[in-house]
Amino acid sequence: ATPMSITVGTGKGATNGILIRSAEALETAHKLDTVVLDKTGTITNGTPVLTDVIPLAGFTGDDLLATVAAVENSSEHPLASAIVDGAKRQHLPLPEVTAFDSVTGQGVRALIAGREVLVGSPRLLAGAGIDPTPLLAHVEALAVDGKTPILAAVAGIPAGVIGVADTVKDGSAAAVAALQSRGIDVVMMTGDNRTTAAAIARQVGIRRVLAEVLPEHKAAEVKRLQAEGRIVGMVGDGINDAPALAQADIGSAIGTGTDVAIESSDITLVSGALAGVVTAVDLSRATMRNIK
Ligand code: ADP
Ligand code: MG
Repeated sequence: ATPMSITVGTGKGATNGILIRSAEALETAHKLDTVVLDKTGTITNGTPVLTDVIPLAGFTGDDLLATVAAVENSSEHPLASAIVDGAKRQHLPLPEVTAFDSVTGQGVRALIAGREVLVGSPRLLAGAGIDPTPLLAHVEALAVDGKTPILAAVAGIPAGVIGVADTVKDGSAAAVAALQSRGIDVVMMTGDNRTTAAAIARQVGIRRVLAEVLPEHKAAEVKRLQAEGRIVGMVGDGINDAPALAQADIGSAIGTGTDVAIESSDITLVSGALAGVVTAVDLSRATMRNIK
């Protein structure tokens, strides 16, 4: 494209709330045939709230919530904030925690009164040699409603499940439909539970879901789609998403997301609305049409 048409295109982008970092990004966006969307904070608002506390025998609901919240108090994950806020709302005193540790994409662990507490995905418990089976019926019941189930174990024994729910952003479903109507395949990619992811995907009209993807595998999933000959756009907001944004042909960061994600991206969606991806594709198509 000519320098003039690029200037016009990036200018129109800025007016519409999308910051296009390079001429190359504007020239590539019209070729996208696949767009991968992160779930939390990208399709959803990313501010989940506590919805369910399900203790197993030997625990009360308050016990379970206070124990889990005490461990999550040291985590910066959005799921952690939901749980800590939920416990605060119920004025639960939180026990003292030592030896906090986080396992990226799986959960957190710490000691309370000398007993090890694990909080996170089935994979986290299984990795510590704890069989999550007694919790799995509760996990599935929460997940079919689109809630994220968070498992807890104390001293090697399953203790219960906490449910947390996030809401879909206004405009996510419309943006997915707009991309699909332009012939673009839309794929959801998330570290979250498979059933939870499928429930959210259904709400926004996404048919292809990559779930339970570990943070370090997200870029490889993008690469795999590229190996199928696809030109791939990726939209995400978190630190975990940065390598996948860099791997994609066009990486788009949510403007309210982490600095690392924004620095790894070609296009920033300032307000965070997914409609910005559609705008970028349309601007690129118009720019390339003008010069042909
Ligand atoms: P996303 O793809 O939404 O960014 P993450 O990779 O951050 O997801 O996390 C994947 C999964 O790991 C979560 O759905 C949850 O099961 C578990 N997990 C991660 N961090 C925490 C935490 N602080 N507390 C509980 N569970 C967690
Ligand atoms: Mg994330």
